Amino acid sequence: MIRFGPAGIPIQCKGSSTLEGVRCCADIGLTAMEMEFVQGVRMSETSAADVRKASQETGISLSSHAPYFVNLCSREPEKVENSFRHIIASARITALAGGDITVFHPGFYQKQSPEEAFAAAKKNLKAIEEKLKQDGIKIRLGAETVGKKSAFGGLLESIRLSQQLDMVVPVIDFAHLHARGDMRLKKAEDYKRVFDLLEKELGSYVRRFHCHFSEINYSDKGELNHLVLGTSDEPPFRPFMKVLAENGYSGTVICESPKLDLDALTMKAEYERLVAHAGSVKR
Ligand SMILES: [Zn+2]
Repeated sequence: MIRFGPAGIPIQCKGSSTLEGVRCCADIGLTAMEMEFVQGVRMSETSAADVRKASQETGISLSSHAPYFVNLCSREPEKVENSFRHIIASARITALAGGDITVFHPGFYQKQSPEEAFAAAKKNLKAIEEKLKQDGIKIRLGAETVGKKSAFGGLLESIRLSQQLDMVVPVIDFAHLHARGDMRLKKAEDYKRVFDLLEKELGSYVRRFHCHFSEINYSDKGELNHLVLGTSDEPPFRPFMKVLAENGYSGTVICESPKLDLDALTMKAEYERLVAHAGSVKR
């Protein structure tokens, strides 16, 4: 089963709170929502409890995006400390709201080699995991595949972090993979290759994956900005839906296009059409 939802409160939602966003997702036929804490975690514990209740009533599954101000590869103690604070705050409130994953951007190479950046990110994530375990917070930490060549967290780096840490899983941002050049995505085979790699390296993760999707504008340095579906077909969503429909993977697709919920519904409709088609072929 694949869940679809917007990165943030739906455009069609009349209100502006997370609670209203969850209810709106349910009303328009979506099944997930990512809470955007990208400018800072400002949700109170009381609101988180209300959101949790609404998500249980509506069946909307929740995730979150931690603040952008994270660099786990930094050698500056103050920056590392701030990164800890942002990820732990995000993880904590997400768990209280009933979410099961908080997504973060791992960091930047700056002057370090890829190996040095990896070692720093791993050490810092390990410390974050220890703190979360101590506090009894059950959540997955989603290392998002980044879109810029200067950023740490390519597909292989995110997979490797996941293999070496308990709570970390890769969050595949397909637009970023395409823009950074980690994988250029054109056909169904290209998407299948990503899932084959995930299955080979991480086994059951393909039955509980979390990913981001949109089209994207990019330069030779990587991502520029996310685009609505149908703008350039880079990367194209239809072959992606085909791979999801034909292979029995389970997980969540969060739509990061500027038309958030509208494009999430477009993907969901295409996915359901292909699932129905695959079913009728089998019969
Ligand atoms: Zn992100």
